[in-house]
Amino acid sequence: MTDTISLVWFRRDLRLHDNEALVEACAADRVVPVYCFDPGDYGTRPFGGDDSFDFEKTGAHRARFRLESVADLRSSLRDRDSDLLVRVGRPESVIPDVAAAVDAASVTMHTWPTAEEMQVEAAVKREHRDADIDPRRFWGHTLTHLDDLPMAYDDVPDTYTTFRNAVERDATVREPLHIPEIPAFPADAPDPGSIPSIADLDETLTTPRFDDRGVLRFDGGETAALDRVESYIWEGDHLREYKETRNRMLGADYSSKFSPWLNEGCLSPRYVQSEVERYEDVRVSNDSTYWLTFELRWRDFFQFQFAKHGTEFFRRGGIRDRTDIDWRTDDAQFERWAAGETGIPFVDANMRELNATGYMSNRGRQNAASFLANNLRLDWRRGAAYFETQLVDYDPASNYGNWAYIAGVGNDSRDRYFNIVKQARQYDANADYVKHWLPELDGLPAEYAHEPWTMTADEQADYGVQLGRDYPEPMVDLEASYETLR
Ligand SMILES: Cc1cc2nc3c(=O)[nH]c(=O)nc-3n(C[C@H](O)[C@H](O)[C@H](O)COP(=O)(O)OP(=O)(O)OC[C@H]3O[C@@H](n4cnc5c(N)ncnc54)[C@H](O)[C@@H]3O)c2cc1C
Repeated sequence: MTDTISLVWFRRDLRLHDNEALVEACAADRVVPVYCFDPGDYGTRPFGGDDSFDFEKTGAHRARFRLESVADLRSSLRDRDSDLLVRVGRPESVIPDVAAAVDAASVTMHTWPTAEEMQVEAAVKREHRDADIDPRRFWGHTLTHLDDLPMAYDDVPDTYTTFRNAVERDATVREPLHIPEIPAFPADAPDPGSIPSIADLDETLTTPRFDDRGVLRFDGGETAALDRVESYIWEGDHLREYKETRNRMLGADYSSKFSPWLNEGCLSPRYVQSEVERYEDVRVSNDSTYWLTFELRWRDFFQFQFAKHGTEFFRRGGIRDRTDIDWRTDDAQFERWAAGETGIPFVDANMRELNATGYMSNRGRQNAASFLANNLRLDWRRGAAYFETQLVDYDPASNYGNWAYIAGVGNDSRDRYFNIVKQARQYDANADYVKHWLPELDGLPAEYAHEPWTMTADEQADYGVQLGRDYPEPMVDLEASYETLR
């Protein structure tokens, strides 16, 4: 009898632990793991629709993280006498070609509920039909499995609390799967290929240097992901106070920083949940330990919202198809926001952190997004697309879902806007965060660091910070802009 060969197509599931596509593939006699860099994920793209704009699909921070993650996966597979075939090309030609070259009897992969991912899957499936291979798809990136939802996915409640209550009451989280015994890599498999450079993916990108003002060195890959879980939950013992610290903005440990690894699939949320439960058993079970699960359920919520509403999330009027908001287009204003030159320090500090590191705290994201969407009333999708470029932890559902929420076109029937200065005073009382990213404001007392425009000319001279020279004048009168929203 001839050996059966299975191909496992790694996508945003760059891990060995809790990986059902891998476990299923490993039932074959031989397994060929493949990763494909899709040129469609890089370079400049039009957003499409009315008032289309161009944006960069994947910026340097995430490209770097992904390349490292693929390298880490390959090295873990090689440690197990397997390998990772790496290719650059459209998956609908690469995957069937590799399957044909190794004479694979089956192809396994994970699936996501977002449009581009599903289009790619559909194209791969079409190509396989002729070869008589039915690719098998698995759902593996949420806490609650799609099949375990207590309702049909198109009946998922549009309100987070209703969703959370239902899954807390009527769904369980599956145990993470163990790493399987990985069968040998076929001796006659094609050359594994080399991992491309960042410039091979997009010639405009260069590997960013680690900025030591950043919260954490986000090294890509499952190895670093598991190390982070170990250091945050166990060594640092930070989980016991997560709920109290999670709204801070400086340092590695005010929040878990799991997001880049979760979104590139280096870390399974079910594994995180199993570690939370183990911690609750052996250390402490309190509001903070519950709250990490609570936040992971927000992540689930947006995944299932995308399964339900699909591309409606990318419309200007969002899933509510609102037509009553007059979204503006103003390139110069947008560029100031993106560069962190708005003259509103709390917004600028956050945008500069994003640009320098690819990361921004949740508090920062809420305020930076609200400023663009509500105070400036610029097309919220352009802000979301800018985050898509820059974020090291970008995920379509989490990003566009949160943006739509804040812009008033998503899962919240109230118009939400953040009072930026009030938030700055509450979450950055001593202006340490603002000064960390805007050293030009270092000499100012906290109240002026948050509202430099309230300084008189004499005070500006005394403190050596002249508006318009050392730091921008505010691009909008915040108070007047709130009036238009009330
Ligand atoms: C405008 C805007 C855009 C965002 N874009 C993204 C994105 O592209 N990718 C992304 O992962 N998160 C996004 N978030 C959610 C949140 O800001 C980040 O998940 C969080 O800051 C990541 O840091 P952490 O891992 O330390 O979070 P923690 O506070 O430690 O939370 C643990 C995990 O819970 C999940 N989570 C927490 N809050 C949310 C939330 N509001 N929505 C969805 N998941 C959540 C994340 O997976 C996170 O890693 C966005 C939020 C806003 C307001």
